[in-house]
Amino acid sequence: MKILISNDDGYLAPGLLALADVMSKIADVVVVAPERNRSGASNALTLDKPLTVSKASSNVYFVDGTPSDCVHIALTGLFDSRPDLIVSGINQGQNMGDDTLYSGTVAAATEGYLFGIPAIAFSQVKKGWEFIDDAARFALNMVQHKLGNFDEPYLLNVNIPNCHYADIKGVQITRLGRRHPSEPVIKSTDPHGNPIFWIGPSGIAKDGGEGTDFHAVAEGYASVTPLQIDLTHIHQLEKLKKVWG
Ligand code: MN
Repeated sequence: MKILISNDDGYLAPGLLALADVMSKIADVVVVAPERNRSGASNALTLDKPLTVSKASSNVYFVDGTPSDCVHIALTGLFDSRPDLIVSGINQGQNMGDDTLYSGTVAAATEGYLFGIPAIAFSQVKKGWEFIDDAARFALNMVQHKLGNFDEPYLLNVNIPNCHYADIKGVQITRLGRRHPSEPVIKSTDPHGNPIFWIGPSGIAKDGGEGTDFHAVAEGYASVTPLQIDLTHIHQLEKLKKVWG
């Protein structure tokens, strides 16, 4: 088995190193990841400049681009063969509910899925690396034992609680929750007196009820959400057709 690994925290992030370490036990692993932290990059592709791929070691490459750039390059020109699976992460911090639209971790997996390759985005719920090896062990177990017989390409968003492996209560298969709108931007001034703005923190859970990713991790479970790409609002499709007659 060949596994391509990427992330959005950058190729030196402990979450990526832990993921590459465990996956190398069961597969040929190659890492193609951003040279620096690109969290929040979403599905952006760099179209206004050429990209450079640098080799950090025999199977680790870093790119001066986004997570989507990394996977795109890996799948369309850098290598001769396609991976059997793409794993992204393990991100430092949760990617749940509406976060998934902004997440570079999810985007790296999505890019692979768009090319028809099964893909999983892994995130750890809270920041900090204390339990990253436990999260990596969970990821390995999932890839090794749970997905072998899944009979169609999948895009899975996985959020893992920060705790010892043995303390993860289990897995809940979930839908995405919803968040309230983000906090307002934080306005300040630069040393020259010009106004500057920091994007504020994401909103708190609005729909965090039973069955959601928010609820699962709050209860101590790992959350696994199957994602799809089609954004079509089917209900409004019919409604709009009527508006136009
Ligand atoms: Mn990140």
